[in-house]
Amino acid sequence: MTNHHKVIIIGTGPAGLTAALYTGRANLQPLVFEGIQPGGQLTITTEVENFPGFPDGVLGPELMDLFRKQAERFNAKTIFQDVTKVDFSKKPFHIYSNDEKYTADGVIVATGASAKWLGLNSEKEYTGFGVSACATCDAFFFKGLEVVVIGGGDTAMEEANFLTKFASKVTIIHRRDKFRASKIMVDRTMKNPKMSFMLDSEVVEILGKSENGRKSVIGVKVKNVKNGSVSTLRTDGFFVGIGHQPNTKIFEGQLDLDANGYIMTKPGRTATNIPGVFAAGDVADSVYRQAITAAGTGCMAAIEVERYLEAQHG
Ligand code: NDP
Repeated sequence: MTNHHKVIIIGTGPAGLTAALYTGRANLQPLVFEGIQPGGQLTITTEVENFPGFPDGVLGPELMDLFRKQAERFNAKTIFQDVTKVDFSKKPFHIYSNDEKYTADGVIVATGASAKWLGLNSEKEYTGFGVSACATCDAFFFKGLEVVVIGGGDTAMEEANFLTKFASKVTIIHRRDKFRASKIMVDRTMKNPKMSFMLDSEVVEILGKSENGRKSVIGVKVKNVKNGSVSTLRTDGFFVGIGHQPNTKIFEGQLDLDANGYIMTKPGRTATNIPGVFAAGDVADSVYRQAITAAGTGCMAAIEVERYLEAQHG
């Protein structure tokens, strides 16, 4: 079978590429599908300052290129194709990329999660230049500046509270007058002196400027959903905190998913409900969601798949 591989890895963020490095070094010649967003979420950030080993920071896309190069050095093969269907009920496992069929003895799922966005054109235009969906990654750049956070759930509250450690003022803009977040998080947020709120409000446009070729956010146009009035609020940063969507659509009905769609793994491991299929990175992690934790679980999945194959084939 020409399209048979010992290990197939689906996804190429820090988890997938770390799994590729480790399985490559174990001589398993992994095939890695780049997935819907080659390089993962780091490719939409600019500077990454919290990945150990880079004291001066590193650009997200550059970091992912380094990950890829290191994996390729050990014979991991990456292909720029998306997996469109899987069948884990058969052994070897069946993996489809459009009309092409691949088979594998072991699979590592590292398809990640995607931040949900509002879907405004201006949001796309300023992503990485004042617009972010990750306070942990980008709050540091807003020292002494004013920012807004969109959303009314726990993610928005958590991001907003974290941002107050750096920003001088944080305004939460929420489309209703009631928060979905837990009471404890809302209470904590309400008590924070740097916080202010714009309720029953939707952002209709992000305003920005470009100076010396450098784009930045300068404000937002906000519509009051009750009376339809539109106002402008000055801001230096725009954080979307309306949640994340794990990329698990093609695994529905095969892998056990939790209520929010994340792959469920055995406690402290990367093993899924199907022996031989492992999950690493944000696709199985709604809590930490960091590049370094994703890389860590990618390493775990590689070691687990290696042991699984050894037990199967000796
Ligand atoms: P949620 O679905 O709970 O909340 C999303 C929020 O974003 C809602 O307030 C929603 O508004 C708003 N929203 C969604 N889409 C839009 C849109 N297009 N425009 C404007 N607003 C929008 O997601 P979270 O990520 O906040 O939480 C997910 C899960 O993770 C929850 O179970 C949460 O408890 C948990 N979590 C826990 C944390 C903790 O305990 N520390 C931290 C983060 C998450 P509306 O309310 O009107 O629907």
